[in-house]
Amino acid sequence: MKTLSDFDFKNKKAIIRVDFNVPLDENFKVTDTTRIEAAKPTIDAILAQGGSVILMSHLGRPKGVEEKYSLKHILSTTSEILGVPVQFVSNCIGEEASSAASNLKSGEVLLLENLRFHAEEEAGDVAFAKELASLGDIYVNDAFGTAHRAHASTTIIAQFFSKEKCFGLLLSKEIESLNKVLKNSQKPVTAVLGGSKVSSKITVIENILDKVDHMIIGGGMTFTFVKALGGKIGNSICEDDKQELALEILRLAKEKGVEIHIPVDVVAANAFSNDAETQIVAVDKIPDGWQGLDAGPKSLENFKKVIMDSKTILWNGPLGVFEMENFANGTITLGNFIADSTANGAFSLVGGGDSVAAVKQFGLEDKVSYVSTGGGAMLEMLEGKVLPGIAAILD
Ligand code: AMP
Repeated sequence: MKTLSDFDFKNKKAIIRVDFNVPLDENFKVTDTTRIEAAKPTIDAILAQGGSVILMSHLGRPKGVEEKYSLKHILSTTSEILGVPVQFVSNCIGEEASSAASNLKSGEVLLLENLRFHAEEEAGDVAFAKELASLGDIYVNDAFGTAHRAHASTTIIAQFFSKEKCFGLLLSKEIESLNKVLKNSQKPVTAVLGGSKVSSKITVIENILDKVDHMIIGGGMTFTFVKALGGKIGNSICEDDKQELALEILRLAKEKGVEIHIPVDVVAANAFSNDAETQIVAVDKIPDGWQGLDAGPKSLENFKKVIMDSKTILWNGPLGVFEMENFANGTITLGNFIADSTANGAFSLVGGGDSVAAVKQFGLEDKVSYVSTGGGAMLEMLEGKVLPGIAAILD
């Protein structure tokens, strides 16, 4: 796996695919700078060696050129974070871009306009990728969030660099962390899969059954399993057409020696609302008109033991409707168990939009080993797929 340390960037121009798809408010001010800050170590390292940097990214989903999606809006924030003035060109290809790139001196940074102003980006157009490639000497991919897309700047561009291509620090850390769970894991390995639906996680479940010793299944998915096993789930969320699949997963897990842990009790509510009445009931005896919205205390006690005994933990998806305060306890408590286990030496990886949001919201970000930045990309890696953006560098 080639990374920054395999190259000398002195007097070289690095063209870096970053993920600067940041949220902007109505005045086009960046409201969350996490992604820009995440790319800083790679940029700093290259500049420190006496290289120069050309940054390319997408922002939003523009249809052609749309002013509101211009990367010029993030220019001052990027300069502030990087601590150097950042130059900007209003087209990522063409005369303006190539002349700005060729005039770039050691220590300087150039930001290209939104790649997605050209439909060729998402189409993976070879000629467009070649133009981008012509701007730099070394291609660096540091955008995990788009590594599962075979776009021009994330994948196709790499073919124009025979050897001069590598992963940035952020992307190498993502790959390394996922490999610590999927490949070189210390046992016992536990995966916690929550969230709303079996259908969106099924490929992940199937793939990681081969890699884990324990699987905790929580959140809305629980009820498809419980119903399939003959339990009474009241109005809880359920995918009836996935009941067979749920039974098949349980059978496969048994065959592979994976212990599956499903909540035994839940916080049930008489409406999908934070103000609903609640009661703790057995997961398979939920009264008519009630629905399970969070894991109950006995379930959490059971999960605690599994988590504390684990050496490797993967967490994807909340244990309940954590967006509502009254149903957030399961997710918070689980997050704390994972933090405690991490403090005891376990490696913990949190990924997937909602669990990342939960970890941030509950202040656990620094208490787990790694928080993944790419939702879709991480899920695809967990599904066992080879991401095109990663394969292109390894070629
Ligand atoms: P996902 O995007 O599949 O990871 O699902 C995340 C969503 O699942 C969150 O918005 C949670 O509110 C929701 N969720 C978790 N537990 C439940 C539940 N018991 N009933 C309904 N929705 C749930």
